[in-house]
Amino acid sequence: MLNLSTLFKNPLAKTIGALFRHGSLSLDDCLQEIEEQLILSDISHKLAERITKSLRKELPGRVESEAVTTALRKELQHIFNVASLQNPGDWTQSQVFLMVGINGSGKTTNSAKLAYYFAQKNEKVLLGAADTFRAAGSSQLSLWGERLNIPVVTGEKGADPGSVVFNTMNSFVSKQYDRVIIDTAGRVQTREQLMRELEKLVKIITKFHEQGPDEVFLVVDGTMGQNTLDQARKFKDFSGLTGLFLTKVDGTTKGGTVVNIVDEMQVPIRFLGVGEQAEDIILFEPCAFIDRLISE
Ligand code: GDP
Repeated sequence: MLNLSTLFKNPLAKTIGALFRHGSLSLDDCLQEIEEQLILSDISHKLAERITKSLRKELPGRVESEAVTTALRKELQHIFNVASLQNPGDWTQSQVFLMVGINGSGKTTNSAKLAYYFAQKNEKVLLGAADTFRAAGSSQLSLWGERLNIPVVTGEKGADPGSVVFNTMNSFVSKQYDRVIIDTAGRVQTREQLMRELEKLVKIITKFHEQGPDEVFLVVDGTMGQNTLDQARKFKDFSGLTGLFLTKVDGTTKGGTVVNIVDEMQVPIRFLGVGEQAEDIILFEPCAFIDRLISE
């Protein structure tokens, strides 16, 4: 199975190692190289520039490898910390999860994976298939449910997703589940329609669970570089987002995509999807991720 130490093959650590193989360097030379490598790891030009600008303030005119690595680690940690501070609270105690994102991002598959993640901890988990717009959406989740032995509340194709959410929440409360994960539709539509629909679902959840969904995870396909960011931005107006679920990271995703998306959305990444099987899910830990990027 994949884990953080086998993902994000990244030249950053090696670059720093190679850069300093003859000893210390002028800060200018060092930062020029670092900026280039950040961009090669898919960090946006703007963010790479911001990071190096910050490093310049922090570091003296001549630098050693260790000082650069420490300063870079601090910069990256800062980006992840800012996102976490915007969303304080302990998500691991959350009960009601709403999965949002555009079609094809991996919402349904990763809703099933998340349910399985909790079920494996011996929790009583329920899935809600509110993606009623696609013929496959609802039945795909039912298949997962059968396979994983997790109950799924479904609706007919074309049914009002609100009614599926209603029935799911009703079952969640009356049968006292520990967690419920609700998959929503991700039709490509206008931002306003999308937001209105999500808000409607949130309102229905509120009838059963006073505070509304404890978590709204935006599911984003991590393989698309700049388009990954564009995909996420579609949901930026939705104030309820609490976490990101970056999928298909088993593919070509470079580490920079992870940094960009957290910086842009100011929402922490909670999970990575790393394959098409139920167990292909990794709990995201920023420190381990940063280590992976910059430690050899
Ligand atoms: P949805 O339309 O957002 O519900 O997306 P699906 O869950 O139907 O997933 C779309 C495709 O992506 C399917 O072929 C999934 O098997 C695949 N997929 C989902 N998550 C991952 C992942 O983490 N890694 C890989 N390699 N494929 C994934």
